[in-house]
Amino acid sequence: MLPALRIAARRVPAVRRSATAFQAARAASTWAKVPQGPPDAILGITEAFKADSFDKKINLGECYNTPRPAPLAEYDHVRVGAYRDDKGKPYVLPSVRSAEEKVVKNRLNKEYAGITGIPEFTKAAAVLAYGKDSSALDRLVITQSISGTGALRIGAAFLERFYPGAKKIYIPNPSWANHGAVFKDAGLEVDKYRYYDKKTIGLDFEGMVADIKAAPKGSIFLFHACAHNPTGVDPTEAQWKEVSAAVKDAGHYAFFDMAYQGFASGSTDKDAFAVRYFVEQGHNICLAQSFAKNMGLYGERVGAFSIVAADAEEKKRIDSQIKILVRPLYSNPPIHGARIAAEILNDPALNKQWLAEVKEMADRIITMRALLKENLEKLGSKHDWGHITSQIGMFAYTGLDAAQMDTLAKEHSVYATKDGRISVAGITSDNVGRLAEAIFKVKG
Ligand code: PMP
Repeated sequence: MLPALRIAARRVPAVRRSATAFQAARAASTWAKVPQGPPDAILGITEAFKADSFDKKINLGECYNTPRPAPLAEYDHVRVGAYRDDKGKPYVLPSVRSAEEKVVKNRLNKEYAGITGIPEFTKAAAVLAYGKDSSALDRLVITQSISGTGALRIGAAFLERFYPGAKKIYIPNPSWANHGAVFKDAGLEVDKYRYYDKKTIGLDFEGMVADIKAAPKGSIFLFHACAHNPTGVDPTEAQWKEVSAAVKDAGHYAFFDMAYQGFASGSTDKDAFAVRYFVEQGHNICLAQSFAKNMGLYGERVGAFSIVAADAEEKKRIDSQIKILVRPLYSNPPIHGARIAAEILNDPALNKQWLAEVKEMADRIITMRALLKENLEKLGSKHDWGHITSQIGMFAYTGLDAAQMDTLAKEHSVYATKDGRISVAGITSDNVGRLAEAIFKVKG
C-alpha cells in the first residue's frame, strides 16, 4: 500500500472500513444487480404458524415450493399441501412400501433410463389415464417426467415449439399458482378464462363456456381434469360434455392437468372422466399426469406427459421431437420412483391394494369435509356450507375473505391462505371441532 493511502485507511474506523470493503465487494460482484425476489406467499403463513406457541394451533395452508426449513421433521409437520393421516402425520401408502421392497429385492442395476423413461411405467400410466380400451393407446406419445410440474413444462415447451396457432394458453381463474409461471417460463403467453364464482362459491359455468367461445379459434385451453386446485370446484360430467362441445366447435386445443387422479372421488376411472370423454369425442388432447398425490410419491417426482397423435405416423414424428426436447433439459428421468409406480400399476395384487388405499385417502378427505360442515351447523351457523361438501379433492374454498382469514390466524391460531382456501388434508378428527368453532366465531 502507498504511504498516503495507508494514512487515509488508518483514519477510517475499523468497523466502517470493513463495511465499506463489503459494499465495494458487493458492487463488484457479478450478481450485484440481481434483485431480491418476493417471498412465497405461503411462507409467511408457515412462519406465523411456527411462531405461534399455542399447542392446538392448526395449519391449513400449503407449504409447497418453499425453501426447505431444517430440520426435515419440522418441514413435514407444516407441509400440508401433501396428504396427512388422521393424526396429521405424513402417510406412506403400504402398497408403496411393498412395491419399494420388491424393487430393492430385485437388485436391479442403476443404468440410465431411456430419454422418455421406463416403458413399463409409461405404458401402465397411459392405461391408468386413458383406460385400457382407449382408442388413444396405439397412437399415444408418452414420456416419463419430473412429476406433474415437469410434465406441464415439457408440454408447454412442445406447444411453444410446434403449436401451429397462437402461442398462448388460457388457464382457469384462479388456477394452481405455478401454472402461470411454468407456461410463461416456457415462452407461452398466459391468459385466464372465468372459472370460479365468488358469489355462489361454485363454478361460473356460463362464464367459462362464454370465454371458451369468445377466444380466437384454435386457442389452447388448460383444464384441471379433477379436484381443481385451489377451489375444489369441478364441472359435473354433463358440464364437461358441454365444455368438450364448445372446445370442439371453436377448434381449440385441450391440455389436461391430472394431478389428483383417484384422489378426488376415490375412483381412478371416475376422476379420468373428462380426459376419456374428450378423447372419445375426437380431441387429440395432451395430458400431464402426477403420481405425487395418488401414490404419495411427492419427493420421488414421478409423472408422465402424453400427446394423443392422429395416427401411428404422426406419433413417430412427435415422439422424435419430444426426445429432442427432453435431452438438453435433463437427458433422462430418475428411475427409482418410476420403478415403484410400475410395480403398483402392473402387479395385479399390489394394484388392487393401491386402489383401495387411494379410496381410503379420498374418503378421509370427504369425511373431514362432512364433519366440518356438520360441526358448523351444530354450532348454529346460518350460512349455507354446502360448498364444503360439494367441492372435491385436497383443497376447499371456505368463502371467508382476507380479513376473516387474518382474524382466524390472529385470534384462533388457524393458519391458511388469505384467499380463504384451506387444505382439507390438514383437518383431523381431533381438530375439526375446534376449527369449526373458530370459523363460526369469525364468520357466524
Ligand atoms: N398441477 C396441479 C393442479 C397441482 O396441484 C400440482 C401439485 N400441487 C401439480 C400440478 C404438480 O405437482 P407435482 O409436480 O408435485 O406432481
